[in-house]
Amino acid sequence: MEDIERRIADKHFKPGEGFLQIYAEDPDGQMYCSLLRQGRKMCASLPGDKVSLYFVDGVRRQAGADSELKVVMVWKGMLDLIFKLASLVTVHARPIPSTYQAAPLPWRNDVKVWLKDGVFDWESPDYWWLHDPEYRATFETFTFAIFCFIVLHEVGHFHNLHAVRRMERGAPLEAESAADRERLERHAREVIADTYAMQFLMDELKQRQFADETHYHPQRHIAITYACFTFALISVSATFWGFSVAIPMDESHQENFYPGHAFRLRAIQSTALEHGINGLEPSLAHVLVSEAMKQSFEILSAMSDGDFVTWDQPLQNPIHGAHYEKVCEEVRNWSNPFYGSKN
Ligand SMILES: [Zn+2]
Repeated sequence: MEDIERRIADKHFKPGEGFLQIYAEDPDGQMYCSLLRQGRKMCASLPGDKVSLYFVDGVRRQAGADSELKVVMVWKGMLDLIFKLASLVTVHARPIPSTYQAAPLPWRNDVKVWLKDGVFDWESPDYWWLHDPEYRATFETFTFAIFCFIVLHEVGHFHNLHAVRRMERGAPLEAESAADRERLERHAREVIADTYAMQFLMDELKQRQFADETHYHPQRHIAITYACFTFALISVSATFWGFSVAIPMDESHQENFYPGHAFRLRAIQSTALEHGINGLEPSLAHVLVSEAMKQSFEILSAMSDGDFVTWDQPLQNPIHGAHYEKVCEEVRNWSNPFYGSKN
């Protein structure tokens, strides 16, 4: 083991965990290889610091960054969750072909139970979208998008220097408890990392899906932006809803229940509505974003058996609305003013 690997293992691994061994000939091997390659490429694109990515063989549904060791880690439990969420969106994003309509879906009894406890079976014929070339391509693109978002979120914490800022931050303001301050700041950091991830996820999707179109008409720019944004929004919505089901956020630092994941999705949607996407004219961007939100909502409602519809309702509670406003004010303290873009 290299020195850096030993340090990662000592600091972060629980008993029984190790670095994920990938065997390309296994049914899931190809997927791990291509995700690791993509993830390393994104981590390497950070300005300044060299950040490496490791997959950890462990059941925890977790991804994390260590700014001291300069690594991003993704556990196998998280990769399995990504495969499950990508499967759900793949099957619900388009009509099921008649050949497969009789096949029993693995989540037919209870989608939330399957997300939490189901075993992802790469070889079962019930997982027909893995074996049908056309659906397999869709599955791989959703997997790619969800994975990129998760890694880019961690990269976003590096990029916005969150570890440094946490040490430098000041004392709580008057009439504000330290716990309230910590909660606000934590939410602000998550929102910034998410916004960063969403922006660069669009670029990654564009590169993957439209790589051969380097020079095109403005009208084509609108169509490509819309396609990438819709794809990204569906992926990110599935990610947050899936996280709320399978890995409830650590809310221990909060005094009242707070719908953290729904809030993060809302922040991404509002950012796109308020600030537009990809340099498009604001009123046009607004129409496209609204349309993408509608599409995403329909897919998510279907794949969650309606749970997605009630999932973000706690956000209507005025106390959460007030918190949202405060987080927006806090966001500027945690953004990196020196880089307008990743490069
Ligand atoms: Zn985070």
